[in-house]
Amino acid sequence: MKLIAANWKMNKTQREAEEYVSKFLPLVKDVTKTEILLCPPFTSLCKVSQMLEGSNVKLGAQNCHSEKKGAFTGEISTVMLKDLGVEYVIVGHSERRWIFGESDEIIHKKIVACLEEGLRPILCVGERWEDREAGMTFKVIETQIKLALSGLDAFVSKIDIAYEPVWAIGTGNPATPEDAQLVHRFIKDLVGPVRVLYGGSVNTSNAGDFLRMPDVDGLLVGTASLDPESFFQIIQASE
Ligand code: PGA
Repeated sequence: MKLIAANWKMNKTQREAEEYVSKFLPLVKDVTKTEILLCPPFTSLCKVSQMLEGSNVKLGAQNCHSEKKGAFTGEISTVMLKDLGVEYVIVGHSERRWIFGESDEIIHKKIVACLEEGLRPILCVGERWEDREAGMTFKVIETQIKLALSGLDAFVSKIDIAYEPVWAIGTGNPATPEDAQLVHRFIKDLVGPVRVLYGGSVNTSNAGDFLRMPDVDGLLVGTASLDPESFFQIIQASE
C-alpha cells in the first residue's frame, strides 16, 4: 500500500493541530487504498493521538533519541513515543542532518531504537545540490543507506525509506519524477524490496506525476501538508 505522510516540521500549536485534524478526518474517512500518516511536532502528539483513535490515519513523530531513558535533557525516547500511540518515526531528515549535525552513526542508532520499540522508521536520505552537480548522487545515497542500515539486513521489511534531495526540500523546485524514479530503483536494487517515498516540494499539482512512477511508493510532504484540503488532494492522487 502507498504511504502518504505529512511532516508538519516545527509548525502548529495544539489548538491549530486540533483544528486541522477535525477538518482532515472527515475528508479522508473514505480513503481505503492509501496509508495516511500525520507527523506533528512532539507538543501536539498527545492531542492528535487522542483524535486519531479509531480512524484510518496513523501517527508519526519527526525525530527520537537513540537511548530509552536517562540524562538526555530535552530529548524524547522511542519508549515515550510508543506510549503516545506513535507508530512511525521520521529518522535522519535532512534538516536533522544539516542543521543539527546528525551523523550517519546517530541515525543508525535511532533506527535501531525504533525497531527495538516496534516503531517503523522512515529513513530519509538525499544528496545536496553540489553532490548532484559532481555526479555523486548515487554514491551519497548508497553511503547514507549503508551506514544507517548497517547490520540491519534482516529488518528491511520493517523500515521505509524516503528519498528527499536536499535541494528540493522547501524550495518549490522538486526533482523530476523521472530522476526520482532512477534513485528509487537504485535504492531497491541496493537494499531489496522496500517502500520508497519521494519528498521535496511535493504539491497538489505534481503529486500524481510522482505516484505514476513504478518505484515511487508514497510521498513525504512538508509545506503542502500544512493545509488539510491540500494534503487531502495529494492523498486523492494516490487512491
Ligand atoms: P517540502 O518538505 O514538502 O516542504 O519540500 C518535505 C520534507 O522536508 O519532508
